[in-house]
Amino acid sequence: MASYQSMSKEELVQLKEKLNAEYEAFRAKGLKLDMSRGKPSVEQLNLSMGMMDVLSSSADLKCEAGVDCRNYGVLDGIQEAKQLLGDMIEVPADNIIIYGNSSLDVMYSTVARSMTHGVMGGTPWCKLDRVKFLCPAPGYDRHFAITEYFGIEMITVPMTPAGPDMDLVEKLVSQDEAIKGIWCVPKYSNPQGITYSDETVRRFARLQPAAKDFRIYWDNAYGIHHLYDDDQDYLLEILAECEKAGNPDLVYKFCSTSKVSFPGSGVAAIAASPANLESIRKQLAIQTIGFDKLNQLRHVRFYKNLDGMVEHMKKHAAILRPKFEAVLATLDRELSPCGIATWTKPKGGYFISFNSLDGCAKAIVAKCREAGVVMTPAGATYPYGIDPHDSNIRIAPSFPTPEELALASELFVLCVKLVSIDRILATK
Ligand code: PMP
Repeated sequence: MASYQSMSKEELVQLKEKLNAEYEAFRAKGLKLDMSRGKPSVEQLNLSMGMMDVLSSSADLKCEAGVDCRNYGVLDGIQEAKQLLGDMIEVPADNIIIYGNSSLDVMYSTVARSMTHGVMGGTPWCKLDRVKFLCPAPGYDRHFAITEYFGIEMITVPMTPAGPDMDLVEKLVSQDEAIKGIWCVPKYSNPQGITYSDETVRRFARLQPAAKDFRIYWDNAYGIHHLYDDDQDYLLEILAECEKAGNPDLVYKFCSTSKVSFPGSGVAAIAASPANLESIRKQLAIQTIGFDKLNQLRHVRFYKNLDGMVEHMKKHAAILRPKFEAVLATLDRELSPCGIATWTKPKGGYFISFNSLDGCAKAIVAKCREAGVVMTPAGATYPYGIDPHDSNIRIAPSFPTPEELALASELFVLCVKLVSIDRILATK
């Protein structure tokens, strides 16, 4: 097949007619499929059902320190949970505070606290005229929703295959004291599935921000979420790099077991320098008497240690891998020859990032929806929901069954072709 750009108007019109007939056939099937959110499938959730059995009514519910986990106490998490999550994100247990069930909630709390009470004794952001965040994009829509909710001005920073454009990040943070943070998903990023290079991590650690209360919001949501045993990405550990660079307080690192155990019922944590943690603990002591220690205990008893988690993640990978491969194979087969799109080929995480011709993404997503396949809304991967090129679409292959996914990807490529043809015809 020739590239669409090289085809004549007549050839394109003819092709469009044929594809339209295929599209109508899809529509007649009355599909109801969802590729919009990165939810684990039922099969994946079933992997952790053993966790329901480890805390029976006859189990010893004391943690290693002898505290009864059924009762109040232990503000920042039981030691063995700090060890497990610390190992998961490669930081010492002492650098961790365990929270509740959601890392997004930890990020929200962190921004909220900075708004009302400042960062480590600094001026509360709500008293400042302007507060800004850098938002590498495409990125995670729920990050952008937090900063938008607090009226924080978001500045888009382009992503490269090695991470955010660091020339721009360095320039902006060194010049503007109103810039207080940057959102990062450094490993198997949402939505590209890329991992920041060593050089990018080192440049982050060496940042010299104009604002003393600037922090890197390092959301390590997919740290151990590999798709392959023998072909994995590696990410330099940012806390250690910041310490080496003489910037120990520069970063907050977030994580959870949402996509290890159960989304919504996992364990979340923040890792940071002792000075940051000290300041966070003071506020946390007002917010809660302690989070859910039984859930912490359940996770520790089920996984036992990092090796247990890594073995468990291999089972997730075995379920996810064929789904990613099925979508990628369809994109490759159907779209590679057409020259109308590009996409990422992640080695981990939950997403594929897809770029159509400029001005097509919204129309593609709408066309998919019309035939019963829901995608993440176009634009969601950019601050304020506005993709300046109207080109990026996040594909989430985890939830549908392989059969559903085959159908959904066939329909998706059909919609991409039809919308692209319209776009090209408009310029011929
Ligand atoms: N961060 C990223 C990058 C995510 O993709 C997700 C889930 N889609 C989350 C955070 C949410 O994590 P949690 O369930 O711990 O709130």
